Amino acid sequence: MAELGLVVGTAGNVSVRLDSAEGRDLMAVTPSGAPYDGLAAEDVVVTDFEIEPVEGSRPPSSESLLHAGIYLRRPDARAVVHTHSIFSSVLAVLGEDLPPVTDEVAVYVGGAARVSEYAFPGSEQLARSVCAALGDNKAALIANHGAVAIGRSLDEALDICLLVERASQIYVTARAIGQVRPIPPEFVEAEKAVYRMRNPLARGDARSQEVP
Ligand SMILES: [Zn+2]
Repeated sequence: MAELGLVVGTAGNVSVRLDSAEGRDLMAVTPSGAPYDGLAAEDVVVTDFEIEPVEGSRPPSSESLLHAGIYLRRPDARAVVHTHSIFSSVLAVLGEDLPPVTDEVAVYVGGAARVSEYAFPGSEQLARSVCAALGDNKAALIANHGAVAIGRSLDEALDICLLVERASQIYVTARAIGQVRPIPPEFVEAEKAVYRMRNPLARGDARSQEVP
């Protein structure tokens, strides 16, 4: 992610859902405060969804609750990638969604990458507000913070992060030059239908919409 310019230093984090063991839901997540350069397999931490450590000697990412919260509310998610990439963060700081301004956003993200309500990093509230923004889609912007994407694999989640960052750059640049011409709504609906066909299990848990 650092090489791709999605994060700097130790920022951002990655996880994959593991098969549950004895009814316990598990994930493998990057450790807290570790630069990506030199990260080895044994540095990765296995925790349950309450962030109780199961394997590994390092503390898990400080944003582990976000990852667990997404797995709990999105059964289709097998991997979560969270970045602090520049153009996604520009929209997140403005408190604006990334609308489906290019065809690929609607087809691969499922519609807009919506921006969440602000919540403190690492908090359960952040997990809730990001899941509410995510809904049935595969990416969301985290208010004043960054972006997150999910996938059926780590490759897919990373690809979606890159796609969202690129589309955010296009959108921000286009708005700086002139007026953005939206894709006609009926075509956006057709593209979202393609997304739903390819991702029949992509459904946000209705509980995530509730404001505590
Ligand atoms: Zn972060």
